[in-house]
Amino acid sequence: MQQFIREFIEDTVHRYKGKTAYRTPLIGFARADDPGFPRLKEVVAPSHLLPEELLPGARSVIAFFVPFTGELVDLHRRHPFVSREWAEAYIETNSLIDDICRVLSEALRSRGVRAAWQKPTHNFDPVTLASFWSHKHVAYLCGLGTFGVHRMLITEAGCAGRLGSLVIDADLPATPLASGEYCLERRGKNCAACVRLCPSGALRREGLDKQRCYRHLLDVDSRFHDLGLCDVCGKCATGLCALGVPGAKDESE
Ligand code: SF4
Ligand code: SF4
Repeated sequence: MQQFIREFIEDTVHRYKGKTAYRTPLIGFARADDPGFPRLKEVVAPSHLLPEELLPGARSVIAFFVPFTGELVDLHRRHPFVSREWAEAYIETNSLIDDICRVLSEALRSRGVRAAWQKPTHNFDPVTLASFWSHKHVAYLCGLGTFGVHRMLITEAGCAGRLGSLVIDADLPATPLASGEYCLERRGKNCAACVRLCPSGALRREGLDKQRCYRHLLDVDSRFHDLGLCDVCGKCATGLCALGVPGAKDESE
């Protein structure tokens, strides 16, 4: 079944015919009773859901990362504000992730497996901004990467892209957690490219001011009203870890 799920997600992304192009998605798995899930009530918020709360009888969790292309990352990094292509990619990819979750759930149901999921974004408390189901923390538990200074997940395909996840009631082998640190600063090297790229001052080496960041995202939204709710920025996702694990090749040589 793991192979079926992998191929389903990869095929759906490869066959996608929107404006946005993608690299090959990454897919990881965790057991629903992984002790990391209850810890998210402390790490993220007490209101963060357990897999069992999303789907009674949950056995496994699937996370996937849909990576943007280098061209889109370059375009957005060089743009003085937010490139329209990046804003469109945010909207399109959220919709693609919704479609993957919905159609994969239907395909699994025909195999006798139940599934549940949370939408790719806007599943957070509007006051505290704490997520009820943090896809990046779920993806970490599914072995897809480690966190960077920018508080995003850095995967083997970088951090520029979008994450989705589902809970199912079938057993799947878990993917081991990513080993080591993928962020240069967290490996004791100088980088902080993400901090320098942040236009609002919300991101510092010491931490992220989520409220200040979100005010900037709402400013972006006000300039892309024709696209729908477009509270996106992600300049910090266009740094050295945008497209892969920075320095990994140099260090292995
Ligand atoms: S840009 Fe550099 S410091 Fe920031 S998260 Fe990526 S590797 Fe870490
Ligand atoms: S999303 Fe934009 S405003 Fe928020 S931390 Fe990243 S670069 Fe800064």
